[in-house]
Amino acid sequence: MNRPASISPSSAALPETAPQARSFLGHPLGLSTLFFIEMWERFSYYGMRAFLILFMTAAVAKRGLGLDTQTAGAVYGLFTSGAYLCSLPGGWLADRLLGQRHAVLWGGALICIGNLMLAIPAGLALFYGGLAVIALGTGLLKTNSTVIVGQLYQGASDSRRDAGFSIFYLGINLGAFLAPFVAGTLAEEVGYRWGFAAAGCAMLLGLAQYRLTKGWLGDAGLLPAASSAAERRRSRVLLFVGVALLGLLAAGAAAGWWSIDPRRLAQKMEWVLALIAVGFFAAVLLLGRLTVAERRHVAVIVLFFVSAAIFWAGYEQAGTTLNLFARDQTDRSLFGRFFATGLHPVTWYQSIAPLFVLLLAPVFAWIWVALGRRKLEPSGPTKLGLGLLQLGGSFLLMMLAAQLVVGSGHKAAPGWLVATYFLQTTGELCLSPIGLSNVSKLAPARLAGQLMGVWLLSISIGDLVAGLIGGEIGSGSVAAMPAQFLQMAWVGLISGAVLLAIARPVRRWMASA
Ligand code: GLN
Repeated sequence: MNRPASISPSSAALPETAPQARSFLGHPLGLSTLFFIEMWERFSYYGMRAFLILFMTAAVAKRGLGLDTQTAGAVYGLFTSGAYLCSLPGGWLADRLLGQRHAVLWGGALICIGNLMLAIPAGLALFYGGLAVIALGTGLLKTNSTVIVGQLYQGASDSRRDAGFSIFYLGINLGAFLAPFVAGTLAEEVGYRWGFAAAGCAMLLGLAQYRLTKGWLGDAGLLPAASSAAERRRSRVLLFVGVALLGLLAAGAAAGWWSIDPRRLAQKMEWVLALIAVGFFAAVLLLGRLTVAERRHVAVIVLFFVSAAIFWAGYEQAGTTLNLFARDQTDRSLFGRFFATGLHPVTWYQSIAPLFVLLLAPVFAWIWVALGRRKLEPSGPTKLGLGLLQLGGSFLLMMLAAQLVVGSGHKAAPGWLVATYFLQTTGELCLSPIGLSNVSKLAPARLAGQLMGVWLLSISIGDLVAGLIGGEIGSGSVAAMPAQFLQMAWVGLISGAVLLAIARPVRRWMASA
């Protein structure tokens, strides 16, 4: 927690306008440091996420955990949801005590340690502990690396800043794209523990480059924002209490004082997260002393929040429902002769969505600009509605694929999953960046950080639901799948249609000043 008292002049941030000797794709050199730490972190996260449910549901004889699919789905949901939820304490800790730069370092170290714990075959307690440590580390690292990106562009024009974030987003998806080929293939072909080890090593590589190139960040993210000594003291006490509670919880679980039932915990957690969201919005709307216009803006954010939570609940099933569909119901004989099982790895399908993001993000950016020039660019709520419609469409495709499997008795061609991921990615590109930028624009300035946190909460809720749905579908028979996929298609299509229908009044509320 020690912070250097001063920063050497040689590492001071280069002013935006000064001619820079070296740059990263025309941006401050510090963006490269952040691009790569985020790339390796996402490599680590998506690498292990790709086979997490496969590992949990594989028989013990096949060096898996032998959990039933419903329990595995719940654990998956709790872990991925927890990783996003930990962004809130992660951001708080950096603001109050650590500063973003050190928070990233601590986060990375926790991710390495967590993956190491998962790589050691020593029972469920160590496994759950490892997942918890990774979730904490992810909350510390991902939030704060993103915050530092923003700090590189203080005073810069909006378009330059947006371009910086787009490059950063490419780093995220580059890591997510590459990881399944390495960590996933290792896990499936050599052993799951090797996959976790690979995820840990990836994070270590990221940390090494971060340490080596930290000078490029100048003083961005070096010091915590909170100033007064009393405030810091209070924060330290809170941190101590939090860590002690976590320690107690872990010690109790390890000693067998209480047992964890992931399914019940996940179901309770759904309520807890929903209550947090409702309580938060109620407090802001009722007690926030908002002007009429501000109240309307917050109401629009509530609408975006609900839409986003629905979207992520479908989209995040990539790691559960669709992953299990790839394992059990998809014809994986293509390139099969290169593998001992005669089938290509299941985890490869996890690379499809990030690949589409890499290919399509520039196309979408161009489409919006081109439409904007003709004054035809759809409004925020319209884009969100389109995103949900595409999600609904993707589950219609899954319904057809499942029907085909049921009707023919043969496995589905890989093209079904590819097309499903394509629609989900185009949906993501309509919804995710647009939701994020609209929240940051609409949020009353004094609530900006908290409302951003609530956006992350929507992903957290979505992940939890995705885990539970995946566990449910995965544990049923393939005959039940068409109806289940149809249900999800309806949710996407109906919520998308509602958004499109109310887009006009929503736009008026957004514009009211
Ligand atoms: N793929 C992106 C990331 O990992 C976004 C995921 C999400 O927002 N649910 O950062």
